[in-house]
Amino acid sequence: MTAKPVDATTHHKISELGQRVLSGGHISRDEASWLFNLESSADILDLLSWANRIREQFKGNKIHLCSIVNAKAGACSENCSFCSQSSHYQTGSPKYGFVDPEPVTEAADEANKNAVTAVGLVAAWKGLNEGPMLDEVCDRIRELKAGGKTRPDASLGIIKKQEVANRLKEAGLECYGHNLESSRRFFPNTCTTHTFDDRLETIGYLKKAGIKICSGGIIGMGETREDRCDLAFELKAIGANVVPVNILNPIPGTPFAKNEPLPVMEILKTIACFRFILPRQEIMIAGGRTVNLRDAQSMIFMAGASALMVGNYLTTLNQPVEKDLQMLKDLGLDPNWDNHDFSDQEEGGCGCGKESCETEAVAG
Ligand code: SF4
Repeated sequence: MTAKPVDATTHHKISELGQRVLSGGHISRDEASWLFNLESSADILDLLSWANRIREQFKGNKIHLCSIVNAKAGACSENCSFCSQSSHYQTGSPKYGFVDPEPVTEAADEANKNAVTAVGLVAAWKGLNEGPMLDEVCDRIRELKAGGKTRPDASLGIIKKQEVANRLKEAGLECYGHNLESSRRFFPNTCTTHTFDDRLETIGYLKKAGIKICSGGIIGMGETREDRCDLAFELKAIGANVVPVNILNPIPGTPFAKNEPLPVMEILKTIACFRFILPRQEIMIAGGRTVNLRDAQSMIFMAGASALMVGNYLTTLNQPVEKDLQMLKDLGLDPNWDNHDFSDQEEGGCGCGKESCETEAVAG
């Protein structure tokens, strides 16, 4: 056995940063980068315990649950290197057109039974334009809203016109999922059929329409720690309300099929760093949780996560919802939200992605 001396200076510095965030302060890009580069498990566990305190201070014991319905599957024109639904790769993933009302109603019933706050309609296509498809999407959102069993959310790709975002808002959409995926620097490694700026532009239209933003990324795609750090600061700048952290589940047939999985401690450290940078946001652990974290899944809450994607993912399986609900119960965490309207969060800028943005966000 090799004994390692304990570096008390690092312990004090983590505590100082944690205390600052608890008191309502912020950490700088350099300070965050230092946290992302912690190596020893003793230091990472210190970091987790502070991230846990920050979560408790700003989120109490509430955990926000979301689920998704794959509303249009496969045959997507885009070439996102992690995605089994892209038409550029041979993955054997299912393909079907936009769903009828029944599967959406069933998903809402299931969500309601399991204390799930929101159901997101997710479509595998480049984006949404005005026309019959937008009418159909708005119908599904209206039906979900009228059912009163769950908050209707959606993730429908790139939007190029303010009118489209306004129509979604009028139909009753409250929150739109649109990940930045990674840092601006790494983004071209993940996709070349649309740009990082296309994504920021979409978020700008949504914010202007008064729709809340669910935006995060995927880790384990080959990006560096600096890329993860930059992603967290971009998400802070756009004023994301929910920040999904997906962990790459390499799909055979996609360009990332042979990526090395991230070590569990690296994943937990990343979640904790996100909590330090985004203290009031819902940090949601989404795709790739079961396959990458295995027995360490419950540690995501100690790392600062305050939200969980439950039920099956778009094309891969998750652990049963009952098991997730039991995990929350065992940890003394409560998934029941009467009305989660994000009023506990500070609003960011207009969605332009600039850290210096002083434009007031439109309240939802
Ligand atoms: S991530 Fe979305 S846009 Fe990219 S290929 Fe998959 S379904 Fe298409």
